[in-house]
Parts: sequence; structure tokens; C-alpha cells
Amino acid sequence: MPARVVIDGRAILLARRDDLPLGERWDLPRDGDTIGVVEQRDELVIERVESASEHPVAPPLAWHTLDALRAQWGRAEIALTADAASVVRGIARDAIVLAPIEGETSIEIAPSLRMIAVRTPTLPPAQHTNLFVIGSRDAVLIEPATPDRSELDRVAEWVGALEATGITLRAIAATHHHVDHVSGARALRDALAAPLVAHPETARRTPRGITFEPSLADGSRIVLDGGEPITLRAVLTPGHAPGHLCFLDERSGALIAGDMIAGVGTILVEPGDGDMALYLESLRRLAALDARAIVPAHGGVMRPPGIVLERYVEHRLARERRVLDALTAHATPARPGDLLPMAYADAPRSAWPLAALSTEAHLIKLEHDGRAKRTERGWVAV
Ligand SMILES: [Zn+2]
Repeated sequence: MPARVVIDGRAILLARRDDLPLGERWDLPRDGDTIGVVEQRDELVIERVESASEHPVAPPLAWHTLDALRAQWGRAEIALTADAASVVRGIARDAIVLAPIEGETSIEIAPSLRMIAVRTPTLPPAQHTNLFVIGSRDAVLIEPATPDRSELDRVAEWVGALEATGITLRAIAATHHHVDHVSGARALRDALAAPLVAHPETARRTPRGITFEPSLADGSRIVLDGGEPITLRAVLTPGHAPGHLCFLDERSGALIAGDMIAGVGTILVEPGDGDMALYLESLRRLAALDARAIVPAHGGVMRPPGIVLERYVEHRLARERRVLDALTAHATPARPGDLLPMAYADAPRSAWPLAALSTEAHLIKLEHDGRAKRTERGWVAV
């Protein structure tokens, strides 16, 4: 179905889409009755109307004033499909064309901040990890996530299409060392000829055979020159994993949040890699950044960041209280699994194996806070 561009000079007609895994975004309408003067150009049907207000539309269609659209998109308040993004750019240059990048494949969360979802061996119900290419000339790829051959080919093809538009990949970065974030690192480094970079704690922990340069630290800035210049700031956020970095697009306010927040499923804080006290501290650190949108590794864009982050902190603290209540009510020293019927009464039994890990992480934090103690026979409240 050819994409339609319906414009009145000041406004453009877009169709809202919100099918997973990419989340909400605005696309060019694909079908519908013709309402204006039609001009066929390559793959595109362009319709010009006298005045948008004479053509009321119903959801998922909506008219967007071009000025407001560009402003909202620039602040990462709305995401556009690759097709819609290329047309919005084209209207600004008075040259409406479609870039040779398929609309289904990617979205632009803000100008030149592109995301696709790739299939990965991740924690269900999530099945995908979001992968990003950021920059209008110099660019960086974030999350070389997939080990799947056909998905890697799709990524290489996508980046190749972007490179054909004048983009040069300078580096491939990962938020943290988990397999659903780095397992395509070697293949993509070889295919795309760009160095792998991460925080030293991530570089130390990546699976054998994957070597990241330990060149990113808290506060590192990746400056990407081009028509839409971007500065990405690395923000150290341990708790889910040591050395976990989020990346803030300082221009749009979009925060690439890795596994600090989940759009699908939940964030596992597992003793060993994870630390509940640090995780809560990192969530509060993110809340202080004043980001405009949270872009998690799994699922769609989340807004507004302040409320999303506050709910995450509240949710963890509420669970901590339940774990402490369960521990206090337990007559004898308890193992994490003993506390689940009370602390996780609201969760299905299928979630209990992971809940036991999370409970242990809460107990370690409670010990740190002086509210619980680990004895030889199990955990006790103090
Ligand atoms: Zn992870």
C-alpha cells in the first residue's frame, strides 16, 4: 500500500500506530479516500488540500501543524516512523521524497535518534531489545543486542541504508554486559567496522570473545556532528548491573535507559550483578536529570519520566515493606523462598523463581539499612 502525504501547506495528516514492540508513533496514512488534489511521485501519493480544517478526521488519523510537530518531535514528545520523518524533513526543504529506508523498520524518537527492535534471548514477556543509531552525520550505534543471524543481517542492512544517506558510524556502545545487550557486538563490529565502547565494569564482564574498549565513564560526552548535531551524555546507573550506563540526548531530552526501566516486563535486580540500594539510588539520579522521555531497552517510549521513575521507586519500596513484613511474621529464620507466599501474594507462582532473587536483593538492602540480618539458619528481622 503506497504511503500518502496529505498536506495543506501548514499541516500534515498522520496516523497513530501503537503496535508493540516499538510503542506509540505517528506514521503516514496508508489508505483512505482521496480528499485533495493527487500527485503521484515514485512510491508516494501526495495530496494537497486547501485547508485541513475543512477535512475533519477520526482517530487513528489526526492533523498535525507542521511547526508544532517539529517542535514536539524535537523534544522527543512524539515519535515518527522513518517514512513520516523523511517526509517531515522533506517538507522543510520543499522536496518531498521518501528516503530508501523502510517505514516498518524503525522510528525516530527525536530527529536523528532512531530505534529498531531486534529479537533477542531476553527475559519474557519481552522478546526484543531496542537498538539505536543516533546522529545525522557522525553516528553511534547503541545496544549490539542480537545473536540472531537474520536479525544481524537486518541491522547491517539498516545501517547500510543510513550510511548511504551520508551517515558514518563512529562507535558501537552498550549500556551493560548482559547477553541480550551485547551478543551481537563482535558480528556488528566486524560488519560495520566501528569500535566497541562501554564502561570499564561492562568491558570487564562481557562474555569471552567480546572486547569493549573501557572508554566510557560517568559524564562522558559523545559529540556527534552533522546537520542535526547531538551530544549524548553517559550517566552511570549501577543497580541492575555494575557499570550500567544510560545515555541522555542533551538536545531532545530523550533518555536511553537500558535496563533501568522496562516498557515490557520488569527489571530484575539479582544479587551478584544487581544491588537494590544502588538501583534505587540510580533511579533517583535519573529523576534529577530532567529528561523528557524514557526510552527503555525493552518496549516503547515512556513519558513523563518524572512520574515513571517515581512509580518505579515507590513500587520497589512497597515491595521492600512486604518483604520486611513477611520476614517479621516468619517465626523462624527464613530463606527468600519462604517469604514469597506473603511478599509476592499478588504475583503468579510462575514468577516466584525470579521473585526469590528479587527478595534476596531486598533482604541484602534491608541488612544494609540495619533492618534484617543473615544468620547461619536464614534471614531474621532485627
Ligand atoms: Zn540487563
